[in-house]
Amino acid sequence: MLDIAIIGAGPAGLSAAINGMVRNKKIKVIGRDPKTSYLYKAEKVDNYLGIHDVTGPEMVDQFLKHALEMGVEIEDGKVLEIIPMGDYYALNVDNEFIEAKTVIIANGLGKSKSMPGEKEFLGKGVSYCATCDGMLYRDKTVVLIGETDEAEEDVNYLNEVTNKVYYIPLYKDLKNVDESVEIIRSKPKKILGEQLVTGLTLEDRDLEAQGVFIAKETTPIAQILKGLELDKNSIKVNRQMETNFPGIYAAGDCTGKPFQVSKAVGEGVVAALEAVSYLHKLDAKAKKA
Ligand SMILES: Cc1cc2nc3c(=O)[nH]c(=O)nc-3n(C[C@H](O)[C@H](O)[C@H](O)COP(=O)(O)OP(=O)(O)OC[C@H]3O[C@@H](n4cnc5c(N)ncnc54)[C@H](O)[C@@H]3O)c2cc1C
Repeated sequence: MLDIAIIGAGPAGLSAAINGMVRNKKIKVIGRDPKTSYLYKAEKVDNYLGIHDVTGPEMVDQFLKHALEMGVEIEDGKVLEIIPMGDYYALNVDNEFIEAKTVIIANGLGKSKSMPGEKEFLGKGVSYCATCDGMLYRDKTVVLIGETDEAEEDVNYLNEVTNKVYYIPLYKDLKNVDESVEIIRSKPKKILGEQLVTGLTLEDRDLEAQGVFIAKETTPIAQILKGLELDKNSIKVNRQMETNFPGIYAAGDCTGKPFQVSKAVGEGVVAALEAVSYLHKLDAKAKKA
């Protein structure tokens, strides 16, 4: 069991990781390709104290090197769900489970906008996680909208477990989609339904379906942890970076403006130190019992 699981290997996640390491905690960062950090897109960064006149990719490399040299373990993966288990949490990482006493969410900003009907029907036919919810549509027709080729594993899975799946790739080149999947090249416009989803409007026609799966490049946090309190689209935190879940903290762009490296790094430190003091409280409680 980990002391601290950190979601995201951007500046906030890596800052939390090195500060947890110096406090001798068992830590793992679950992150995706470093190029997915917003910082990687910066042409030049001049406003970070002590490091200036660097490109975003140079800064990302420097942060990663620091974390790895301090012994931080970084697992390449995507967290699909956080499941509260009482006094610890289970994280579904690409369908493998990791257990942790505390979690720091540092997943940056979600990249894509939602379409009409998406929020309204979330949990009523709309899902962001094929492997979590696919079995609920065993005898039904579903649509999967894939923002990147990472969705191809999901569409092949849905093809196995559902009655029929339509695949709408929003990228150019398909890599490994089963031949029996019906592929539609069109833009989704609106999710249809009344109490539950009944279909999807495309630019040129309507599709009938009981489930609409959306495989986004970044999974919305509301899907990763059900019941997490948000403030508009950001995770609601206090000055200790605590969320409304005990032992779960958030840091960086995911907590809101300003979207800056120094703010992300600072919040990472606070989240790590607060997680450490929470762990000490858990230990004291266990000793008393
Ligand atoms: C073009 C551009 C220029 C910028 N210039 C500057 C600048 O000059 N100065 C400045 O201070 N700031 C600048 N910024 C902002 C800065 O890049 C961000 O504030 C900073 O990267 C936030 O760090 P973060 O760790 O919160 O998020 P990110 O750096 O975005 O890292 C989040 C990481 O989490 C990963 N992730 C998301 N979901 C999951 C999941 N479910 N499982 C696992 N991993 C996940 C993401 O893929 C990503 O790698 C710029 C941003 C952009 C886009």
